[in-house]
Amino acid sequence: MAPSAIDNVVDAFHGVNGYHSNGVALTNGLQEITLTNGHSMNGHTTNSDALLNSSPDPPLDLLCVGFGPASLAIAIALHDTYPASAPAPKVLFMEKQRQFNWHAGMQLPGAKMQISFLKDLATPRNPRSHFTFLNYVFQQGRLNHFINLGTFLPSRLEYEDYLRWCAGHFEREGNVSYGMEVEGLRVGDQDHDGKATSWEVTARDQSGNLVTRRARKVVIAVGGRPVIPQCLRGLRHIAHSSQFSSTITQIQAREEGRPLKFAVIGSGQSAAEIFNDLSERFPDAQVKLIIKGRSLRPSDDSPFVNEIFDPDRVDEIYNQTPSERADALALDRGTNYGVVRLELLEHLYERLYMQRLRNQDESTWRCRIITNRVVLAASQSPSSNGVILKLVANRENKADVNGGEEEIEADYVFTATGYERNAHADIISETRDLFTGEATKRVPVGRDYRVMYDEAKVDEQQAGVWLQGCNEATHGLSDTLLSILAVRGGELVQSIFGGSYSNPKQAS
Ligand SMILES: Cc1cc2nc3c(=O)[nH]c(=O)nc-3n(C[C@H](O)[C@H](O)[C@H](O)COP(=O)(O)OP(=O)(O)OC[C@H]3O[C@@H](n4cnc5c(N)ncnc54)[C@H](O)[C@@H]3O)c2cc1C
Repeated sequence: MAPSAIDNVVDAFHGVNGYHSNGVALTNGLQEITLTNGHSMNGHTTNSDALLNSSPDPPLDLLCVGFGPASLAIAIALHDTYPASAPAPKVLFMEKQRQFNWHAGMQLPGAKMQISFLKDLATPRNPRSHFTFLNYVFQQGRLNHFINLGTFLPSRLEYEDYLRWCAGHFEREGNVSYGMEVEGLRVGDQDHDGKATSWEVTARDQSGNLVTRRARKVVIAVGGRPVIPQCLRGLRHIAHSSQFSSTITQIQAREEGRPLKFAVIGSGQSAAEIFNDLSERFPDAQVKLIIKGRSLRPSDDSPFVNEIFDPDRVDEIYNQTPSERADALALDRGTNYGVVRLELLEHLYERLYMQRLRNQDESTWRCRIITNRVVLAASQSPSSNGVILKLVANRENKADVNGGEEEIEADYVFTATGYERNAHADIISETRDLFTGEATKRVPVGRDYRVMYDEAKVDEQQAGVWLQGCNEATHGLSDTLLSILAVRGGELVQSIFGGSYSNPKQAS
């Protein structure tokens, strides 16, 4: 499997290496350190002996790669809908982290959800499900306190706890195998005509052993891989936002008392949150936020615009021509990419204003936003372990192309430069010659998220592969988000197991 962007920088921080995007320690020879997100190892299934003894008969009915919210929503929909009379399908979730975590690297104090709790993993599909957010707060004994909060946007911390509470149910059922990084998938069993009837999925466990499992149906829901700009890769003291929480705690411990210089690159929510966090966490530090545009911009979550995230919009988007879809995506990008929630913008503006109150000269400010700049090059500082960033005016912004090159030095650089969602292509690369139609760069995916394999090569009654979270170009902006997971989980269950899995069971 090709290395992810972050692999080039996992050892970037001296003494804080060995971390994957979710802040979970790797065991591939890199230094392993304590998790810093406050959650102890919970002793749930990891690397069970049963798994190491690969491919027992018969194959699993369903294997989901990744156990993030998308897979969890499928688990819940399956739990809620499988007919009581039918034997429970054999399902396994393989997750590379050693325990359930949701964006652990960005669990920052005060961080709020950017979506209503009503769009949890169950409510929009079945408000009577056991797995609604409201049932979670009720079961925790906090329902009245939560109501008193008067918010639709719980903290990210509480939402992760809700997700972990849901995950716990399936862990106890023995459906989850943590510490398993899936590397690939190939044809498993074949019928008399040579058609695939199952897949063989290969994963690497925490000790580096290869493990295989056979499954008839496979869902790949592996989220995004962190992207670091090319010119910053391979340098020390540079990390992606997805590693922020784990690395910053260690920097704090190691650099105590030293006035530090930080640079944050990016103009979206994560960049703004990190800029804010560093400014508060290090009262003596200089913090610079480097953004491409003329200003930070607010995310648009007003009610009419928000309708683009409704589950029933997916049909409309999928049925558009590629160019119509591309236009619509470009128009609506401001709802999700390179934008910041208004409350945080107002908070940051006030912080900068207070500096202005003390001194009009921006160049003296401790916390600054450097606008309309892109990073042209970067190098390790010869005098320290820090980084020298060479900035130039953003030529794309025709309104302001003035200003030559400038250099800034930082002890640590955080890049909040997004994710790419192409890991599925590596995982299924060995099945490419089974695709329908002419070979294209993009994996062909139906409205039901199923990879379109040639019927003459794959028995679609018996075997199939479904993709989650990597279909924005065909299924719209909600594809990478939480917005439609409840409904989409139900759609997946119907597509995988058939129409009889559609009537919600009563809440239990
Ligand atoms: C900081 C942050 C905050 C966000 N907040 C919101 C929000 O408020 N609202 C919203 O709608 N969206 C939000 N998002 C968008 C986010 O993509 C979704 O919230 C959600 O995480 C998508 O779920 P997922 O399961 O598709 O992907 P992920 O959550 O990324 O889960 C994928 C899982 O697959 C595992 N995995 C990856 N590769 C492998 C492999 N090879 N083998 C086995 N396991 C693997 C990963 O460890 C991970 O657990 C946020 C994103 C970030 C980064």
